[in-house]
Amino acid sequence: MMILSNKAEQIRPSSTLEISAKAAELKAKGFDIVGFGVGEPDFDTPEHIKEAAIDAINSGFTKYTPASGIKELREVVAKKLKYDNGLDYDFSQIVISNGAKHSLINTFMAILNDNDEVIIPAPYWLSYSEIVKIAGGVPIIINTKKENNYMVTKEELLNAYTNKTKALIIVSPSNPTGMVTSYEELKMIADFAVEKDIFVISDEIYEKLIYDEDKKHISIASINKDIYERTIIINGVSKSYSMTGWRIGYTASNIKIAKLISALQSHMTSNPNSIAQKAAIAAIEGSQECVNIMKEEFKKRRDYIFEREEKIPYISALKPEGAFYIFIDISRIYGKKFNKIEIKSASDMAKLLIEHKLVAVVPCADFGMPDYIRLSYATSIDIIKKGMDRIEEFINELT
Ligand code: PMP
Repeated sequence: MMILSNKAEQIRPSSTLEISAKAAELKAKGFDIVGFGVGEPDFDTPEHIKEAAIDAINSGFTKYTPASGIKELREVVAKKLKYDNGLDYDFSQIVISNGAKHSLINTFMAILNDNDEVIIPAPYWLSYSEIVKIAGGVPIIINTKKENNYMVTKEELLNAYTNKTKALIIVSPSNPTGMVTSYEELKMIADFAVEKDIFVISDEIYEKLIYDEDKKHISIASINKDIYERTIIINGVSKSYSMTGWRIGYTASNIKIAKLISALQSHMTSNPNSIAQKAAIAAIEGSQECVNIMKEEFKKRRDYIFEREEKIPYISALKPEGAFYIFIDISRIYGKKFNKIEIKSASDMAKLLIEHKLVAVVPCADFGMPDYIRLSYATSIDIIKKGMDRIEEFINELT
């Protein structure tokens, strides 16, 4: 047998994409599946964004672009960072990539040496640990607590820190918890990162999807100059503008890192898609009314799904503040049986739910929390209702 890449063999395929694929397959066979798996808005990409892409095609904007993206888009992103986040970036500090996931892998390839450690507070978006490993790093997982709203504490950070620690990943609003990190929490994290001289990768992809007036998105890079230098912001258009298939994300960082990312990208993909870059300009620079409309709809769904979840016995969740996920503790059903099968993990529950109730949910072992399931409410209220009815039925049928 030929020996394959040890590094690649360590990487688990994305289980959320697998669950979505399984749900789609059953749906195609005619089953009435309710999908709570997929992490993408169900809305169509807004019309003016599509028009910009059509114009790009019709005007022949269909060739290679500079590796780090076209200047016009990088300037639009820099302007957005100033306007939305109070941050000063020159366009040369922005690199456009093929989705925020690509921005993340570029970032880790730019900053990590083999065996450098990256602190990842759990629950975490499942790709973080795998991306760190692909880039040669070692994920160091911290288990946060529900009573702390799944926010990492100073003590937990100090315990995880070693002389190999190179970076820490944060995400707000969070996938999978929906929690928004406060200024005080960010300040504590910033002080820790500056004191230990490590990087902070700040994933802000859900920044525009926050539902409560008293919660605001703050970028950690805006706290002070020291943390600004050490922060790499990850963002993109996928979630806010319902553009998951267009594949445009970006990094904002110090110029040294931006240059490294650009050089890496120039050999890996040459450049992000030219047409999608024009569409992203329309998205970020154009009217934000489309974002508000989608946000209002997500808020209604958030309220509805939380209200339903609260009424179902044995399961519990914090009220999500942003993004479009609800993160549900199901550990109180352990030991109970469905159809004579004992449930010992969230994966057992997810399997039974899809097989017997045709509901696809994400078990969160790959998010570092095996007692939880994640439901995405990026789907219509009618579908959410049907799905929650079925979950309720499932729980009521436990013996
Ligand atoms: N970060 C988080 C927290 C996400 O949930 C996702 C998408 N699931 C991404 C990054 C990647 O986004 P993109 O589609 O732009 O690659």
